[in-house]
Amino acid sequence: MGKCSILSPAVTGNLNHLMKLDAVGATPVGRKPLFGLDAVALASRMADLGEPLWRGRQLTEALYRQWVAELDQITTLPLALRGRLRIEGWEVGRPAIEQVFRSVDGTERYLVRGSGTDARTFETVWMPEGDGGETGDGSEEEAKPWSRATICVSSQVGCAVNCQFCLTARLGFQRNLSAGEIAGQVVAVLDRHGVEVGRDRVNLVFMGMGEPFLNYDNFMAAVRLLVEEVGLSPLRMTVSTSGIVPGIERFAQEPPELRPKLAISLNAPSDEVRGEVMPINRKWPIAAVVDAVRQVKLRPRERITFEYVLLGGVTDRPEHAAEVAQLVQRTGLPAKVNLIAWNPGPELPYTTPKPETAEQFRAALAARGIPAYVRKPRGRDIYAACGQLKRTVEA
Ligand code: SAH
Ligand code: SF4
Repeated sequence: MGKCSILSPAVTGNLNHLMKLDAVGATPVGRKPLFGLDAVALASRMADLGEPLWRGRQLTEALYRQWVAELDQITTLPLALRGRLRIEGWEVGRPAIEQVFRSVDGTERYLVRGSGTDARTFETVWMPEGDGGETGDGSEEEAKPWSRATICVSSQVGCAVNCQFCLTARLGFQRNLSAGEIAGQVVAVLDRHGVEVGRDRVNLVFMGMGEPFLNYDNFMAAVRLLVEEVGLSPLRMTVSTSGIVPGIERFAQEPPELRPKLAISLNAPSDEVRGEVMPINRKWPIAAVVDAVRQVKLRPRERITFEYVLLGGVTDRPEHAAEVAQLVQRTGLPAKVNLIAWNPGPELPYTTPKPETAEQFRAALAARGIPAYVRKPRGRDIYAACGQLKRTVEA
């Protein structure tokens, strides 16, 4: 079915469908969710109803600061106005967590229902770290069971990019998430864990299902909402791309106060190997990606992250580490490398290297002056780890 028709162009080398940054099926139609509209759009909805602009501000606060789930919870708006919104078909329409899978390591994977009329769900992951422990001051206040956390955010249902090692790729491309769905999955998770924005340490990584730079406008509109309305810092956000050059070039134009940090999925030591495991490399080879990344004006102390999936025998050999070190050095970019031992998926033809192999690879990079880290796999048992977001209901 759809899966094959999506997979085939990339396999045959025809990647023209990836040139359009906002491919098919952008925003779901048929419903009228308020969540996802920015402050200007909300004010103009209010103006349409003959209401003053400050009503728009109240609506914005309710959606993005108070995290209301129903129109009736917006008590700052008069009852009659809420009624008129409902009659006109408006709803809060924030994505809802429909199912939760919990890992032994505390990671949670959520099946999220979006605001589209289709039945498609997508996935979001919560990765808590550390232990809040006792409050220590004898107060009654209940400490959170984590001291910081990372939310892994999806940007599309499925993915068209077809990396050979990634389970999400097996879904093929199904549809883009709207800005409200991208930002809304974050708010749903913040709400579930009682996160206090501005106080708790929560990082966002746009590394869930999909390729954010093939849904560029919705992705950046979501970032804007999360920064300007929800109050999260873009310095605590990282977007990862498989190397969509026109997307990176647009990203380089974003203002520093809105731009998340950038991670590039390098995943191979050379164009030759990368072209095998990531067919997208045949369209945009490593040098083209690096040239685009150079256009990004980094903030003080900011570094580009290169992600590197260690595939047993394919990308994890000592000579590969030497090549990666050289490649990264040649870019001249302030960079670090995140090594990810491959997370297994059914029917994928790879093996996971031993922890010692990952450690040797890291040490080989470090010895050549490249800061490198081995990423701890999170939630593998519930298929929540990198590249495993596909299984949806069965865990
Ligand atoms: N589409 C974007 C972001 C989502 S994938 C991208 O590819 O960058 C997030 C990261 O997971 C990428 O670096 C990707 O290379 C990595 N990844 C994919 N499948 C994986 C797997 N099975 N095991 C480990 N990492 C994987
Ligand atoms: Fe898509 Fe990223 Fe998976 Fe590649 S690794 S198929 S770009 S989600």
